[in-house]
Amino acid sequence: MMSDKMIPIPFNKLVNWMLEEYKRTQTIFGVSEVKFFRKSNDQQIGLFGETMDTPVGPAAGPHTQLAQNIIASYLSGSRFFELKSVQIMDELEIPKPCILAEDECYNTEWSTELPIMGAFDEYVKAWFALHVLQKELFNQSDRRFMFNMSVGYDLKGIQSPKVDQFIEGLKDASGTEIYKECLASLLENVDQFKKVDRAFIEQISPNICTSITLSTMHGCPPAEIEAIIKYLLSEKKLHTFVKMNPTLLGYGYVRNTFDKMGYKYIQLKEESFTHDLQFKDGVEMLKRLKVFAKEQQKDFGVKMSNTLPVKIGRSELPGEEMYMSGRALYPLTINLAYKLASEFEGDLKISYSGGADAFNIDRIFETGIQPITVATTLLKPGAYMRFKQMADILDPLMNNKESGKLDMEKLKALAESSLSDANHLKEKRDLVNRKTELKLPVLDCFIAPCMVGCPIEQDVPEYLRLVGEGRYEEAFDVIVSKNPFPFITGTICTHNCMTKCTRLDYDESVHIRGQKLVAAEKGYDAYMQKFPALKPESSAKVAVIGAGPSGLAAAYFLAKGGMEVTVFDKREKAGGTVEYVIPDFRISREAIAKDIKLIERMGVKFEFGIDSNVSVAEYKAKGFQYVYLAIGAGKTNDLDINGDKERVMGAIPFLEAFNANKDALKLGKNVAVVGGGNSAMDAARAALRVKGVENVYIVYRRTKDYMPADHEELIYAEEDGVIFKELLAPLSLTKGVLKCQQMALGQPDASGRRRPMAVEGAFEELLIDTVLSAIGELIDYDLLKSNGIEVGEKGKILVNEETLETSVENVFIGGDALVGPWTVVGAAKHGTMAAKAILKKEGLEFKQEFTSKISFNNEKQLLEIAEKKAVMKPVADHKLESDRCLECNKVCNICAEVCPNRANLMIPVNGKGLTNMSQILHVDGMCNVCGNCGTFCPYSSEPYKVKLTLFWTEKDFMDSPNIGFYFLGDGSEGEFMLRLDDKISKVKFDESGNTDVPIDDKVAAFIWTVYKDYEYLYKVLN
Ligand SMILES: Cc1cc2nc3c(=O)[nH]c(=O)nc-3n(C[C@H](O)[C@H](O)[C@H](O)COP(=O)(O)OP(=O)(O)OC[C@H]3O[C@@H](n4cnc5c(N)ncnc54)[C@H](O)[C@@H]3O)c2cc1C
Ligand code: SF4
Ligand code: SF4
Ligand code: SF4
Repeated sequence: MMSDKMIPIPFNKLVNWMLEEYKRTQTIFGVSEVKFFRKSNDQQIGLFGETMDTPVGPAAGPHTQLAQNIIASYLSGSRFFELKSVQIMDELEIPKPCILAEDECYNTEWSTELPIMGAFDEYVKAWFALHVLQKELFNQSDRRFMFNMSVGYDLKGIQSPKVDQFIEGLKDASGTEIYKECLASLLENVDQFKKVDRAFIEQISPNICTSITLSTMHGCPPAEIEAIIKYLLSEKKLHTFVKMNPTLLGYGYVRNTFDKMGYKYIQLKEESFTHDLQFKDGVEMLKRLKVFAKEQQKDFGVKMSNTLPVKIGRSELPGEEMYMSGRALYPLTINLAYKLASEFEGDLKISYSGGADAFNIDRIFETGIQPITVATTLLKPGAYMRFKQMADILDPLMNNKESGKLDMEKLKALAESSLSDANHLKEKRDLVNRKTELKLPVLDCFIAPCMVGCPIEQDVPEYLRLVGEGRYEEAFDVIVSKNPFPFITGTICTHNCMTKCTRLDYDESVHIRGQKLVAAEKGYDAYMQKFPALKPESSAKVAVIGAGPSGLAAAYFLAKGGMEVTVFDKREKAGGTVEYVIPDFRISREAIAKDIKLIERMGVKFEFGIDSNVSVAEYKAKGFQYVYLAIGAGKTNDLDINGDKERVMGAIPFLEAFNANKDALKLGKNVAVVGGGNSAMDAARAALRVKGVENVYIVYRRTKDYMPADHEELIYAEEDGVIFKELLAPLSLTKGVLKCQQMALGQPDASGRRRPMAVEGAFEELLIDTVLSAIGELIDYDLLKSNGIEVGEKGKILVNEETLETSVENVFIGGDALVGPWTVVGAAKHGTMAAKAILKKEGLEFKQEFTSKISFNNEKQLLEIAEKKAVMKPVADHKLESDRCLECNKVCNICAEVCPNRANLMIPVNGKGLTNMSQILHVDGMCNVCGNCGTFCPYSSEPYKVKLTLFWTEKDFMDSPNIGFYFLGDGSEGEFMLRLDDKISKVKFDESGNTDVPIDDKVAAFIWTVYKDYEYLYKVLN
């Protein structure tokens, strides 16, 4: 087990690190210069008699634990620092990992992991470092940031000598060892600065904090809270904020709010609410304390809010209870702020924390609330650098004043709107885990997760950039190199790519599909004009049976590869389900026709109206060496219902009839569609468009949350006016009455979905003229069996998983015909696989290359990526989506961004065979195994366990299972111990970087770069 103990960096090494890193890569602790916050005016804001450039900063938490964390926050725009809480028990063993920030965030760490005076040292070091940076980088002489200490949890602990020493030390650090060390180190090394001089260093104040935030334990008795605050105000003479808990809102309110906003799964403990301070008592207490503070001539206010204690019910983190923050906390905190402030008619100082981010920070500030601290948004990709956007937003609002009374009208409006704010509803990010199944490599790991999510691995970032640059024909070229359906997939693809998009951790996925359509619409004509019709190179012939997406994709790649291909279909046109079943209000027939023309251009031939009784042997006899069966899954699954069965129709035949001639349909006034998938949504929406139909119901035996239909299809159905009838199972249709059994949700089944159970004796009747059954389509096994194709257990057709060849030689099968109802892009993937396998058998090339030479301006691209990082941006217009794409395969670095402790570093390595612009180096001494990089790395594994690790001590090296190294002696000799492939060896570099024992070239190049150019990383403790 690796050590989760962090090793603080000595002050002189910390300063050296900042300066050296800045010189080399224009970053400091990973924050790029592009993201340094620079004031646009000279206006500041006041608090407790101090002033700051902006009132935003990190909340007491992982981002104020170490000096380098505070430095990273400062650079990107933080100016109010709530230091991580300390308390009497300072040998905390926090079970790891301790943070899970996939969506709303959970943590189990509740105060610093450092010993109290270790934390103290970090805060003093950061205090000096920030002064130096302020002068050196921004040429500001007067301090324009402030530190606020945080202590917990009971009076006895706070009065203990240990905590008292901490408090007194931050009030005046001049007598402390660390203060003297920092001062001496700066004076001694003053020559290393350009703008900082002795006079500046000597005027750095030892009075670090004049204010404190009290963090009380959940369940702390009210009298105790009051006594502590009085003590802090009167004896310690500190301006004081007291943290209020969201439990003040009461169990019912919180439960209800979560349920309405889609967070039903969050498990609350009712006792947490009843044992905590109650609202009425809290108000009385605050009233008394306000008077008391005034008498003491100190400022007093509330910090709103603490995190919310919830049960650990799904093994999210180790232990039984965890604390929730982030976007689900916002509606609670802002409503609590309003409720409490109302009791004081707005005359209440509030320090805010609870789901603030770039999307709401200005509105929170405009109510008069400040400072505003954040934590969860800093755990997501972009991380510390997100401060820049927040500070930039607030900058024009600064007016050199301290906030007065709160604007209660604005606060009320904000509190009310928060409950329906889309950014805080669960449905905005209902897919939680966006990690892929791939294993993280030690080197060259950058990937675009969207490409991994796409079944046909479309080069998404490339075509998004091309569309953004207006290079539509090239974008089209990139798309059709792997996908013969730019229009169809640009319109109705189920876009699995978007479920993996990094942007989901910012705001919402890049609208990838829409961009594909833009490329198709604007690039098609030019591409078609240039692309010559192809002629087959090989004499071998392929018969593709079925002109749906799967057959068409196979034909496209086979023809491109030089084979003679004929596509046979029992119908009169190509397109399969897309052409015949999917309604035209979802995709126009002209769009489908364009894709089919593209496929024809490859030289593919078609024969329609063939006998559906397919005999593979006959095709072979006609000279087709290969057959690809792509006949879909067209058999409908009959609904088992009593009564007037003639009024029950399959959804697919209905949709086919609708597409053929909707005016000929007679459904009556009321239609019920049974099912919850995409076919059900299409059938319901189509039924609404049939003459005479007034009401269309979707009848489903579970609730809407469990419907398998795509979320957006469900929304469209709702917008069209389809009425959802949840928890109903139809029993019979008799004389226009559909009798349904009422259902309830029971325990989860094997799939994790709650099982629907009949409620005994409870029924509902609906007036229904026609029932459309959309409960799934089936594979036609008879045809397969008659052709000798083997089918295994549970109807699984036996194929070679890689080639899709069946038990009959040279006969392949794919798409819906192989797996049952699926997707266009899935069907296309199978067609592509089969084509590849057939071409291989023929010794022909499988071609997926671009026809034009596509290149980008590297420098421009890198700068734009750097600028796009850490910026939240709503989807405004499809044309702008390239501005939102982070081009993850070009630059990832997410693990470096999201590490609160800066333990993952980006090192540019020039090694033979290395392709990424930088490699990730993990620094063991800075990592506390919080787990956050593991949450956001797109691979299935965790960077802090997998990446090449630099150790600072032999003991840490021996205690860890990671591959990695540490330098022997002080590092100067180029000699190091290396663990690679479970083998430990002693290695030494010669002057040119050759090693005395053979090791992997790329790893050697990496360590050589660290040794040669990054001395400050390993000469830390000596
Ligand atoms: C209502 C509905 C909505 C859908 N919406 C979407 C969506 O929005 N996005 C998405 O990605 N997917 C959607 N799908 C799924 C998607 O349409 C299918 O997964 C895809 O069309 C499957 O392609 P395929 O080529 O395997 O089969 P099909 O498209 O079914 O094509 C099979 C072809 O084989 C022909 N054929 C069948 N039997 C024979 C035979 N015996 N002899 C000769 N020819 C034969 C048929 O005429 C047909 O042309 C939807 C499906 C339905 C039913
Ligand atoms: S941000 Fe761009 S490259 Fe990254 S996953 Fe999303 S679409 Fe793909
Ligand atoms: S490297 Fe990963 S696990 Fe370690 S502190 Fe950083 S984010 Fe946490
Ligand atoms: S998060 Fe880090 S380790 Fe994971 S892919 Fe990105 S750069 Fe590589």
